[in-house]
Amino acid sequence: GRKEQGVVIEEGWPGYDLELFNYPEHYRGDIDSVLIPHGVIMNRIECLARDILEEIGHHTLMVLCVLKGGYKFCADLVDSIKAQSHSTNSKLTTRVEFIRLKSYLNDHSTEDLHIIGPEDLSMLKGKNVLIVEAIVDTGKTMKALLQHVEMFQPKAVKVAGLLVKRVPNGPGTLPDYVGFVIPNRFVVGYALDYNEYFRDLNHICVISETGKLKYKV
Ligand code: 5GP
Repeated sequence: GRKEQGVVIEEGWPGYDLELFNYPEHYRGDIDSVLIPHGVIMNRIECLARDILEEIGHHTLMVLCVLKGGYKFCADLVDSIKAQSHSTNSKLTTRVEFIRLKSYLNDHSTEDLHIIGPEDLSMLKGKNVLIVEAIVDTGKTMKALLQHVEMFQPKAVKVAGLLVKRVPNGPGTLPDYVGFVIPNRFVVGYALDYNEYFRDLNHICVISETGKLKYKV
């Protein structure tokens, strides 16, 4: 249904002209268009937070933030869950743990995917766990993480993905909470990087050819 799928951004949507928005001056020319303005991201996150609170926001929620790309989404999502939890007088406590993975070089996914710490996630045992990922592309990361987390015997595991890319033959399984379904293009901003650049851009944008060349390693 509409709610499960998230906001759909059509394949042909060209995005907004960057010059219509405020952005760091040093990225002039490095971006083709603004796919999702920061304000839209924030409002969508409030809706995801409301759904999460309703469905799994009882007692304790263990949030597993997937670094580095997920740090903004995770921080804003947890803030919103807490704010809504206070205003509805729910007795929720949240705890955030961080996990890091690496599989990307330039704008291509590489085969080997490593989970970089923490080794011990035994605090997840018997708890409701929410994995928070900025973007799901092939779904490999999500699958690997779900397998990894299951080893620590949580009570239940859900996944929140801010962005899901519309890729040929899909990610198999979708996150339980989806922010936006986006065209199959390489996006940056809102903590998503291209070789560590663009994390300081608050809109989600499409990188330009100039930008790709400038920050290539
Ligand atoms: P998957 O395992 O689903 O193919 O890839 C997920 C990971 O690849 C994300 O966590 C992210 O680090 C990276 N990724 C995939 N697509 C993009 C993209 O368009 N932009 C950026 N910056 N990273 C991406």
